[in-house]
Amino acid sequence: MTASGATWRNWGRTEAVRPVRVERPATAGAVQRAVAAAAASGLPVKPVGSGHSFTGIAVAPGVQLDLTDLSGVIDADAATGRVTLAAGTRLHRLPELLGPYGLAMPNMGDIDRQTIAGATSTGTHGTGLGFGGLATQIVAAKLVTGTGELLTVSDAERPDLLPAVRLGLGALGVLVEVTLQLVPRFVLHAVERQEPFALVLDEWLDRVRAHDHFEFYWFPHTDTALTKTNTRLPGDAPRRPLGRVSRWIDDELLANGVYRLMCLGGHVRPGVTPPLARLVDRFTGTRDFADFSPNVFTTNRSVRFREMEYAIPLAAVPDAVRDVRALIDRKGWRVSFPIEVRAAASDDNWLSTAYGRETGYVAVHRYFREDPTEYFTAVEEIMRGYGGRPHWGKMHTQTAETLRERYPRFDDFLRVREELDPERRFANPYLDRVLGTGRSDAATGRGATASADAG
Ligand SMILES: Cc1cc2nc3c(=O)[nH]c(=O)nc-3n(C[C@H](O)[C@H](O)[C@H](O)COP(=O)(O)OP(=O)(O)OC[C@H]3O[C@@H](n4cnc5c(N)ncnc54)[C@H](O)[C@@H]3O)c2cc1C
Repeated sequence: MTASGATWRNWGRTEAVRPVRVERPATAGAVQRAVAAAAASGLPVKPVGSGHSFTGIAVAPGVQLDLTDLSGVIDADAATGRVTLAAGTRLHRLPELLGPYGLAMPNMGDIDRQTIAGATSTGTHGTGLGFGGLATQIVAAKLVTGTGELLTVSDAERPDLLPAVRLGLGALGVLVEVTLQLVPRFVLHAVERQEPFALVLDEWLDRVRAHDHFEFYWFPHTDTALTKTNTRLPGDAPRRPLGRVSRWIDDELLANGVYRLMCLGGHVRPGVTPPLARLVDRFTGTRDFADFSPNVFTTNRSVRFREMEYAIPLAAVPDAVRDVRALIDRKGWRVSFPIEVRAAASDDNWLSTAYGRETGYVAVHRYFREDPTEYFTAVEEIMRGYGGRPHWGKMHTQTAETLRERYPRFDDFLRVREELDPERRFANPYLDRVLGTGRSDAATGRGATASADAG
C-alpha cells in the first residue's frame, strides 16, 4: 500500500516529519521493491517501528516504511527455543504468539509497545547483570540492503556481519525477519519496596550481583529509592499476580496518575514539585507478587515524557548518581520524574552501549511539556566524565567524532555500512550526526566525517 505522508510524530513528541510517501509492504519482496523504487526516485527510505525512540533515529523524510503488516511468527522450535519473527512484530504480542511454544524472552525493558526490529536496532535493554540487551537474543536475521539485495546473516551465512546487524541503528538495511534465542517461559517473583537512597547506592554492586534483575528509581528531592528486585522461578511455580484493580491502582492511578498530577502541578508552579515528590514517595509502596515474566518486566506508561539514558561502567554508578543529586541540589531545579538505574551484562555487538563492559544505566526524564535541555546537558556532561555512551534511542548531543572514541569497533561498523548501504539509502539527519556522512573515508577505513548537522 502506498499513501502520501501525513505528519508522523514520535511518542515523546521530540520529532516530527512529513514523509514524501508512506509504503506498507507485507512481504520481503515488497520491501525490496520499495527500496528499489525509492532509489529510482532518488529518495532515502526508512522503516519505522512504533516511534518510541526519543531521538530522530526513525525520522523518514523520504519514503517511510510502515511494517505493521510484517508481523507474527514465521518459524518456531520449542525444543531449541529458536523463534523467527517478522520484523514489525510488537513485543506486547509475544506472550500470545509464544504461548503455544512455552517460550519467553530472557529479559525485557520497561514497556512492550516497541517492534522487535525497532527495539533491537537501538540497543533496548532491561536490567540484570546476567543478561545482555534485547539485540543479544538475535541469532540470525534477514534484511534488505541498500542495493535491494535480500541478505541472510546467521552462524552459517555471513556470520562476520552479525555483531553489526544485530544492533544496526537502522543504518544497514530493512530487517524483514529476526531469529531469537528464547528461553522456556518463566515466572518472576517481584519485590518492590522503598529504601534509603544512600544505602541503595552503597550496596549497588552487591545487589546487582546477588539478584537476577535489580533496579532502582530515585525521586529527586527525597532520600528514598524505590527498589525492584525480581527473582527467576520455573514456569510452573505458583503465581500470585497483581489483581486487575491492584495493578490499576498501582500503575495507573499512583504511578502514571500521580505523576501526571505532579508533572502538571510542577509545570505550572515549579515550587510544588518537591512536596509532590514526597507525596508520590509515600504512595508508591511495597509490592510482593509473582507472575509470568512479561507481566513483571513491563508496565504501562501513559504519562508522556522525554528521556536521556547513559551507559557507564557498572562500578561508576553510585558516584555518578551522587553527582546528579549534587547537581540538582546546586541548581535548585524542580525535577518531577524519578531517575532510573539499571544494569546489563557486557556484550559483543559493536554498537551496543554495553559493548565490552558490564554496564550500569542511568536515565533521566522530564515531563514532555518541560524543556529538558539544561538538565540533560548537565547530566550528559557528568556521564561523559565516567566514559558514558548514550542510548541510541534516547536524547543526547553526541556526534560521530565523540562516539568513535567510545566504541572500539566503530570503524568496523562503518565498513559494514559501506558494504550494505554504499549509497546511504537509509541515512537521515540523526544518522549523519552519529555515524557521519563520509563515504570515501569509511570505504578506505579511515572512518566517518561528522555531519555539520549536530542538532
Ligand atoms: C515509554 C518508553 C519506555 C522505554 N523503555 C525502554 C527501556 O526500558 N529500555 C530501553 O533500552 N529503551 C526503552 N525505550 C526506548 C525504546 O525501546 C527504543 O527507542 C526503541 O527503539 C523503540 O522501538 P520502536 O519499535 O518504537 O522503534 P522506532 O523508534 O520506531 O525506530 C527505532 C529505529 O529502528 C529502526 N527500525 C525499525 N524497524 C526496522 C526494521 N525493520 N529494520 C531496520 N531498522 C528498523 C528505525 O528505522 C529506527 O532507526 C523506551 C521508550 C519509551 C517511549
